[in-house]
Amino acid sequence: MKRIIYIPFDHLNQKYGALKNANPKEDLIVLVESARMTTGRDWHKERLFFLISSARHFAKSLEDAGFTVEYVKAETTIYGLKTVQAKHKITEVICAEPSSHRQFAALKEFGATFIANDFFLTPRPLFEDWAGSQKSFLMENFYRLQRSRLNILINKGKPTGGAWNFDKENRLPPPKKYEGPPYLEHKRDQIDLEVAKELGHTPTTTWATTRAGALAQLKNFINNHFAEFGPLEDAMTTDNWALHHSLLSPYLNNGLLHAEEVVAAAIKAFDAGKVPIESCEGFVRQIIGWREYVNGMYWFLAPDYRENNQLKATRKLLPLFTDSSKTKMNCIKETVSDIEERAWVHHIPRLMLLSNLALITGTNPQEFLDWMREVFIDASEWVMVPNVIGMGVHADGGAMMTKPYAAGGAYISRMSNYCRGCEYNPKLRIGESACPFTTLYWDFLDRHRETFVKNHRMSQQVFGLNQLSDLPELKLRAQEVLKGLDKGTI
Ligand SMILES: Cc1cc2nc3c(=O)[nH]c(=O)nc-3n(C[C@H](O)[C@H](O)[C@H](O)COP(=O)(O)OP(=O)(O)OC[C@H]3O[C@@H](n4cnc5c(N)ncnc54)[C@H](O)[C@@H]3O)c2cc1C
Ligand code: SF4
Repeated sequence: MKRIIYIPFDHLNQKYGALKNANPKEDLIVLVESARMTTGRDWHKERLFFLISSARHFAKSLEDAGFTVEYVKAETTIYGLKTVQAKHKITEVICAEPSSHRQFAALKEFGATFIANDFFLTPRPLFEDWAGSQKSFLMENFYRLQRSRLNILINKGKPTGGAWNFDKENRLPPPKKYEGPPYLEHKRDQIDLEVAKELGHTPTTTWATTRAGALAQLKNFINNHFAEFGPLEDAMTTDNWALHHSLLSPYLNNGLLHAEEVVAAAIKAFDAGKVPIESCEGFVRQIIGWREYVNGMYWFLAPDYRENNQLKATRKLLPLFTDSSKTKMNCIKETVSDIEERAWVHHIPRLMLLSNLALITGTNPQEFLDWMREVFIDASEWVMVPNVIGMGVHADGGAMMTKPYAAGGAYISRMSNYCRGCEYNPKLRIGESACPFTTLYWDFLDRHRETFVKNHRMSQQVFGLNQLSDLPELKLRAQEVLKGLDKGTI
């Protein structure tokens, strides 16, 4: 063996990264299960199960393909690599560019040789050129460029369907008593059971841990959910935990699926007339737009971007985030219970419930970010940092998004059925029955009035705030609500 090819747990694909030119006769493949990754923090066990079992299945598939594989457990990745170097007397270590600043720096210092990271559709230098030429980093502008550059949903130079964006069609509330097709269940095999036993965890059947399972999930989405994905994209309901979301992020993020094949499958279904343009465009925008944009921004922004706290939010993480029994707010109780069960909720609960609550309660962004990183199945540093710090809690002062995603109970009431089962009333902002979101939304605007008055995109909200005749009572109620949230009694 001449060289070591190091495969991080999010590069699990033989066709991309360092494996695409690997030679079974010359290359020793190394995967490291580091203690830092497994025990370093209070990780959700479903997440650990998914990541470790996927990596062990992948190692086995490489052995079946004729590679020599070392799957080692070690204190840290670097320590694991050093052990393998010494055992096999090989010094050269090759790796595709890692997905976090921290791992990049550690492997660079160790002396690894990098090859370009092709797990995304946008090379890092290309995004840097785009971002470097922008005054504000509007995702929509980047997305249109991606559509043209990648020639996706483009017809004779124009957007297919006559528009770049079908968002207006994609904001339906949930239908009443909505069932939808059954979820795909993934059977557990021997490797899964071994990992589950080591972790002392009973896994769900929600997440696949093999490429075959990930492909089955893609097929299930395309055949059973894709057509209705768009219109119900923003809806939330207690009747159905995923609605028509694809549940593909974990596999896109750990390498079992590549964005290229996911988009190809989507376009094939659209070209065959199986899905309407609003669903196809909406989904394509998530993959070639948002996902690529967020990854590009992670690398474009400095490593210390994650430490931003421009709104000076100092509240400690609320107990309701780590324990769903610590709140009476139905929307949050249901969302946190879902996370406890399967480490996933879709985009709108992440943004308009969890992040919105952290934002308007003035929760410390880094505490909230750490919690989000620990509990989501698909959480990686590159995707959580811009989504939380930039989009979710506006901690970067608007560097990424021009205005904060703050909302009161009216939005949640319109887009979900949560409020019907809640002891609070989304229409009320003062009094014991007032919805905490509604009270705290106005309190938040008032606390940051001086900042927001300078932002022309916030003028309507500030105008609304100025019209409130009951602001003094509202401020008192807000203090009660914040105290109750801290104690876990609201
Ligand atoms: C505060 C916050 C935190 C988030 N944290 C993560 C995270 O840790 N990991 C993660 O993969 N996604 C994250 N997202 C984005 C999005 O919520 C998830 O990708 C999505 O819910 C995953 O479920 P799905 O595969 O069914 O997605 P779908 O709704 O079916 O969307 C399809 C795909 O689009 C991509 N996508 C959509 N929006 C985004 C986005 N904003 N950033 C990156 N990719 C996107 C994902 O790969 C997703 O699989 C976050 C969003 C917010 C607002
Ligand atoms: S009333 Fe408020 S707290 Fe209750 S479910 Fe609706 S938005 Fe959530």
